[in-house]
Amino acid sequence: MSQAKIIDGKVVSTKVRQEVKEEVEKLNQQGINVGLAVVIVGKDPASRIYVNSKKKACAEIGIYSEEYALDESITEQELLTLVEKLNHDTKINGILVQSPLPKHINENRIVEAISPLKDVDAFHAQNVGKIMIGDFDFLPCTPSGCIDLIESTGTEISGKNCVVIGRSNIVGKPMAMLLLHKNGTVTICHSKTRNLAEVCRQADILVAAVGVPNLVKKDMVKQDAVVIDVGMNRLEDGSLCGDVDFEGVSQVASYITPVPGGVGPMTIATLMKNTVTAAKIQSR
Ligand code: NAD
Repeated sequence: MSQAKIIDGKVVSTKVRQEVKEEVEKLNQQGINVGLAVVIVGKDPASRIYVNSKKKACAEIGIYSEEYALDESITEQELLTLVEKLNHDTKINGILVQSPLPKHINENRIVEAISPLKDVDAFHAQNVGKIMIGDFDFLPCTPSGCIDLIESTGTEISGKNCVVIGRSNIVGKPMAMLLLHKNGTVTICHSKTRNLAEVCRQADILVAAVGVPNLVKKDMVKQDAVVIDVGMNRLEDGSLCGDVDFEGVSQVASYITPVPGGVGPMTIATLMKNTVTAAKIQSR
C-alpha cells in the first residue's frame, strides 16, 4: 500500500518567513518600517492563540505590532472609531480584526471600514473584487498559503481537476478563485452538494475547508490526489483535527497536509507577506 508524502507547512512557511524577513530588512534600510495592528474582541481561546501566533511571527520577522484587546462589551461604533484611527496611523500598514466578533457587532461593517490599502486579510469588497478580476495587491492568507503548499510539491495546477469543499468568503470561494487563476478546472462543493464523494473522487487536487472532523474519507479520494486540509476542529479531548481522515486518506493520496502543521503556519506566513506588501504600497 502506498503512503502519501506529508506536505510540511512548517518547512514551507519557514522559507516564506525568511524571504519576508529579508524584505523587511531591505525596507528598514530605506527608512521604511512595517507595522501591523491586531484587534481582538472578547476572550475566545482559539482567537487568543491565533493572535499570539501572529504577534510572535511579527516579532521574529521584524514587523512592529500593536495589539488591541477589547472587552466583549465594546460597541460597534467604538470599534469603528478604532479602525478609523488605525487607518490614519502612519506606523500601521496592516489592520487585522480577528474573527469571530461578538454577535452585536456587524463583521461586514467592520471589514468595510478598514482601508483597502491596509486590508491584509484581503476581505474588503474592493480587494475581493480585485481578486475576482485577477488584478490584486493582496491574496487572502489561507487560500494563498494553500496554493503555495500545492506548488511546493511540484504539482502543476494548470489543467487539473480541483475540488474545493466549502464556500465561505474567507476560504472556500477565494480558494476556488485562486485555483481558477492557476488554470485549474474548479468545482465548489458545499452543504447542499449531492453525491459529495463522487464529486471529490474526480479531484486531482482536493481542498477541504468545512469544519467537520474527518469528513473526507479514503473512498472519497482519487488515487494519487493532492489533498489540502484547511479544517481546524477542536475535539472534546482538546486535540486538533482536520476535515480529512488523515490515516485513511494517506493510503491513497500522493501528498497530504497534516493538522496541525499544514495550512495553519502558511496562513500566518502569508499575513506577514501581505503586511510587507501593504507597507510597500503605502510608501509609494
Ligand atoms: P464556514 O463554516 O464559514 O464554512 C464551511 C463551509 O463548509 C460552508 O460553505 C458549508 O456549505 C460547507 N459545509 C458544511 N458542511 C458540509 C458538508 N457536510 N459537506 C460539504 N460541505 C459542507 O467555515 P470556514 O471559515 O470556511 O472554515 C472552514 C474550516 O477551516 C474550519 O474548520 C476553520 O476552523 C478552518 N480554518 C482554518 C484556517 C487555517 O489557517 N488553517 C483558516 C480559516 C479557517
